[in-house]
Amino acid sequence: MKKLLSAAFVTLALAACTTTENTHVISSDNAIAISALNSTPKNIIMIVGDGMGPAYTTAYRYFNDNPNTEIVEQTVFDRLLVGMSSTYPARVSGYVTDSAAAATALSTGVKSYNGAIGLDVDKKSVETVLEWAKKQGKKTGVVVTSQVNHATPASYLTHNESRQNYNAIADSYIDEGIKADVILGGGWQYFIRDDRNLVDEFQSAGFHYIDNPKDLNVLPKQKPILGLFADAGLSGALDDANKFRLSAMTKAATKQLENDKGYFLLVEASQIDWAGHSNDIASAMAEMADLAKTVEYLEHYVEKNPDTLVVITADHSTGGLSVAANGKYEWNPEILWTMAQSPQKIADQLAVSTITIKEASNLLNFDVTSEEVTLLQQTKDKASQQLVNFNALNEKNQKGLTKPSIEKALNTTIKKIIDIRTNTGWTSGGHTAIDVPVFAFGQNSKLFTGNIDNTDIAKKIFKLLGKK
Ligand code: MG
Ligand code: ZN
Repeated sequence: MKKLLSAAFVTLALAACTTTENTHVISSDNAIAISALNSTPKNIIMIVGDGMGPAYTTAYRYFNDNPNTEIVEQTVFDRLLVGMSSTYPARVSGYVTDSAAAATALSTGVKSYNGAIGLDVDKKSVETVLEWAKKQGKKTGVVVTSQVNHATPASYLTHNESRQNYNAIADSYIDEGIKADVILGGGWQYFIRDDRNLVDEFQSAGFHYIDNPKDLNVLPKQKPILGLFADAGLSGALDDANKFRLSAMTKAATKQLENDKGYFLLVEASQIDWAGHSNDIASAMAEMADLAKTVEYLEHYVEKNPDTLVVITADHSTGGLSVAANGKYEWNPEILWTMAQSPQKIADQLAVSTITIKEASNLLNFDVTSEEVTLLQQTKDKASQQLVNFNALNEKNQKGLTKPSIEKALNTTIKKIIDIRTNTGWTSGGHTAIDVPVFAFGQNSKLFTGNIDNTDIAKKIFKLLGKK
């Protein structure tokens, strides 16, 4: 009811805004709301669902549906959709973008080549919305489930000719001047190295460092925070002790960043893309659930802080996810509801145990058939034999060959079983060039409505932040 009321109030306020042209000749409460609609949002939260093409938000709707009701329940994404965005990179890279070029477009408003971090096609640095927000006196932050020096956050925080230069990108977070007040995600291996300890350097620069997500609940007020919780990316949502780790980090970041001048926060659901690359629908839905919870939290946050803008989009779609496949008119997400571990983690366990119906059913958390167990056993036998053959080769003949992996083979078969059960399709292990959905709510969210380009998102944010 409260939500309905506040939505109605915003609609009224908007209508008043267009008809009275800011004359403010209305009740004082409305006047405050209207002037807020015409000014720079105090806080801007940009969310990137990496790889989250429209098939992902659609699949999540059916995954989330209660089949016992006549209606298909709407998700938070359905509620907040405002339009679509194209994602193509600069001409030199064709039509299919990578995450670096797409994040550079979203952060700077300039299209670049695939691999570029905050640079244009001539490899010149381009200012990012995060850098500009910082210059305007706002606090800034990044919250990701990948390593914090991965393509998407890097494209907001720094400039590098290649996303692959992980150490150089991490170094630049200090060497080019610290640009974020809150940095949360993974990345020990890049920050704590033999040649350099960036964690020590951040601490010397006044940062409070945490390496356990539990400490998110007890952050010292007003201090900048570096939180690294894994060697590289965090555990996948299905395997993490906290399946809602993005939500937890986002909640902590918003609280930590609050200040009189407001803040700019980048949040990335990094691993939707990773699930897509590995054609893993179970992990994809778990990552979507974590993002959905994050956005639901922000809906409440914006109710309490209406001078906040939240924009959500994807950088591209991944895997060519298809919600139904092989000519069959059905998609059956039921087995995904109960799965409690990723296919990879289940594969790791089946690789070292005897595969029985009971064991497989326990791990997958649904009733596995004898045919499926046979398929898993055949996979294991074949991969074991390949491994024996490989190990029998001398070093010279092994060169250039990939070492067979029982775990990898089992992972592939488990995902195949899940795809057949759910009738999920995939066309690629990479990205696809389809347009992606845009969601927005809060102050000035109307600006992001319609059919736009990824560069428009940065341009609009710059404009809201007063950049000419
Ligand atoms: Mg990314
Ligand atoms: Zn990707």
